[in-house]
Amino acid sequence: VEQVEPDPAKKTLVILGTGWGSVALLKKLDTENYNVIVISPRNFFLFTPLLPSCPTGTVEHRSIMEPLRHIIRHKKTSVKFYEAEATKIDHEKRVVVINDNSDIKGDVHQTEVPFDYLVVGVGAENATFGIPGVKEHACFLKEINDSQKLRTKIMDCIESALFKGQSQEEKDRLLHMVVVGGGPTGVEFAAELQDFFEDDLKKWIPDIADSFHVTLVEALPNVLPMFSKTLIEYTEQTLNEEKISLRTKTMVKKVSSKYIEAEITNPDGTKELQILPYGCLIWATGNAVRPVVRDFMSRIPEQKSSRRGIAVNEYLVVDGTDGIWALGDCSATKYAPTAQVASQQGAFLARLFNNMAKTEKLETEIKELNDLAVKAVKDEDKESVEKSLGSKTKALGRVKKLSPFAYTHQGSLAYIGMERAVADVSWWNGNIASGGGLTYLFWRSAYLSMCFSTRNRILVLLDWIKVKAFGRDVSRE
Ligand code: FAD
Ligand code: NAD
Repeated sequence: VEQVEPDPAKKTLVILGTGWGSVALLKKLDTENYNVIVISPRNFFLFTPLLPSCPTGTVEHRSIMEPLRHIIRHKKTSVKFYEAEATKIDHEKRVVVINDNSDIKGDVHQTEVPFDYLVVGVGAENATFGIPGVKEHACFLKEINDSQKLRTKIMDCIESALFKGQSQEEKDRLLHMVVVGGGPTGVEFAAELQDFFEDDLKKWIPDIADSFHVTLVEALPNVLPMFSKTLIEYTEQTLNEEKISLRTKTMVKKVSSKYIEAEITNPDGTKELQILPYGCLIWATGNAVRPVVRDFMSRIPEQKSSRRGIAVNEYLVVDGTDGIWALGDCSATKYAPTAQVASQQGAFLARLFNNMAKTEKLETEIKELNDLAVKAVKDEDKESVEKSLGSKTKALGRVKKLSPFAYTHQGSLAYIGMERAVADVSWWNGNIASGGGLTYLFWRSAYLSMCFSTRNRILVLLDWIKVKAFGRDVSRE
């Protein structure tokens, strides 16, 4: 790795975030063309597809984290990293205000970072729809510390339920695990939790066997809307076999420390309010726009009508700005907010930045050759300059011809418990929809191969082997 100080001859490219989008960009970016600065409150990449396996200990947290330093160490020129949160993106002054929001702060913990080019890949936050009590009482499943908190909370509920003199009613409440949101996050986590109970908790803590109970709540008539009808039915039937209570057409309206208020739509269309006591509440109702993104959008007139995130053009340039791109969950495109989309967008932006640098280099060379052509007196000199000019101009045409971003959907996969998974996978020109044990093996091998590094792959594999051999750990962290 060469060069530590920024090179004044190069443009400064600031990348916000270390998630699927930003890291895919970093991986393929020729960093020697820019002064690259990465800013993110976490100094690692997180392989989110296996996050629902972490709170129960099927996979350990560190197995799905890849330190950013491992990623940037392989780059030809050094990449600067600041562990901080971007609190303001000022597109007119062309600076990002950053804040060290970690527990330990030095004398300087807020500053500005100027940029020539900026890529916004800050992801999204958890949607709560302003439902009272959710922020205060629910656990989420988005970041690694959410999972750590959840793991502690599940075991805490279990131990408190077994406290001397606890009434049966209170025991039932504490052991009621309610998952809200029947999207893939909610379904996968509910399934993992039920597996944990069936495989390990029941065996090691038999006193909870009659009271431990998982409920999955979904406002719509079905779970997993992105899957085909057959797979939705298969999933719902599997959840039923697993004894997970599935409550569809149930919209949570209010949450307090011990109860959930939900509006249920009966088959005849009438609505009623029900109170559900709970011990642990997991909130997985999708994405909302981060405050830093909302603030950025509010200052750009072209962004006024965009609700789900930053509006971008087909090259991912932020509408109403120049030299600022957005990708992944913080942007609003026609695609679903998934890791697949974010990582393809990241790879696309890497190609775009690599091409921009090549274009600049070729344009300088062509300018120099044009000057030479004017100065050349001898015929053979003129001829050789014109030949080089021809080939450089052709190369420039090729480099400049970058097609807009196009997404290739590789399919959807989800774990549904009892060693079963569902998959809607594109294969050649058709789609394969499957569910069951074989699909589960496919799910495991697909996720293993998608892991960030060989190191992650081996760690995840060892975790799975460990759980098969000894079961999951039932101690409280
Ligand atoms: P993220 O990956 O969320 O990264 C955002 C980055 O920005 C993070 O590094 C964060 O620390 C950083 N950041 C946040 N705020 C700031 C700030 N103010 N300033 C600077 N940096 C900031 N998708 C799939 O396709 N398949 C799956 O199987 C799948 N499973 C999932 C399971 C779970 C539990 C979850 C929560 C999501 C899953 N997804 C899956 C969705 C997928 O994780 C997201 O679509 C993807 O992470 C989006 O990538 P991103 O780069 O936009 O954001
Ligand atoms: P989601 O948006 O897919 O699903 C959220 C669900 O919560 C919706 O079905 C919604 O109807 C329900 N909901 C909202 N408010 C409610 C309320 N008050 N009461 C009851 N239900 C309510 O969210 P997600 O599962 O977190 O997924 C987010 C994104 O990440 C999606 O794009 C998803 O495809 C992706 N993801 C993919 C996978 C996978 O491929 N295996 C796994 C996790 C996430």
